[in-house]
Amino acid sequence: MARYTGPVCRLCRREGQKLFLKGERCYTAKCSVARRAYAPGQHGQGRKKTSEYGKQLRTKQFAKRYYGVLEGQFRHYFEMAEKMPGVTGENLLRLLESRLDNVIYRMGFASSRAEARQLVLHAHFTVNGRKVNIPSYLVKQGQVISVKDSSRQLGKIKAVIEANSARPVPKWLELNRDKLEAKVVAAPAREDIDLPIEETLIVELYSK
Ligand code: SF4
Repeated sequence: MARYTGPVCRLCRREGQKLFLKGERCYTAKCSVARRAYAPGQHGQGRKKTSEYGKQLRTKQFAKRYYGVLEGQFRHYFEMAEKMPGVTGENLLRLLESRLDNVIYRMGFASSRAEARQLVLHAHFTVNGRKVNIPSYLVKQGQVISVKDSSRQLGKIKAVIEANSARPVPKWLELNRDKLEAKVVAAPAREDIDLPIEETLIVELYSK
């Protein structure tokens, strides 16, 4: 399964915004966006003007990197979103939010989407009682995502859940911390998704 393995803080600096790819560090003064608020590279501090195409491209790159998805898969989500009833841009974000790795992160059971992806790959979670180890699995309304019984006592799992217990959980997920599970009670609405982008720019880019 292909994934980006280069330096992640560089991606945030390129987008000029935090993508929260490194867990704890993202909330501290050590964050590279806080320390060096300009694009990386020789001309990073010189780039100022952005064309309409540039804005659309940066918005798409931001969303793609935020969710840790590569180009082909992102495009696939866009094509799925186009076929769904409703607004394409919102459908796209809803699909990305519904990925199992994102849901685990939103539940506060991982400090970053990358960590959530790894925990899913290591088969620490179940969906409606069945083991699922596919980070791109799309959860549906009514499903219950739980920590697998045999993983509940693992020190690593306990530590990561404890470390992220203060993070707010979106209202489309009903979290039961004692049972280490969450139920998807609704489809994520746009206002529940804290992604600071204009998704219509992505639709414009892909509609050219
Ligand atoms: Fe991005 Fe986190 Fe690195 Fe800051 S610390 S630049 S938010 S990955």
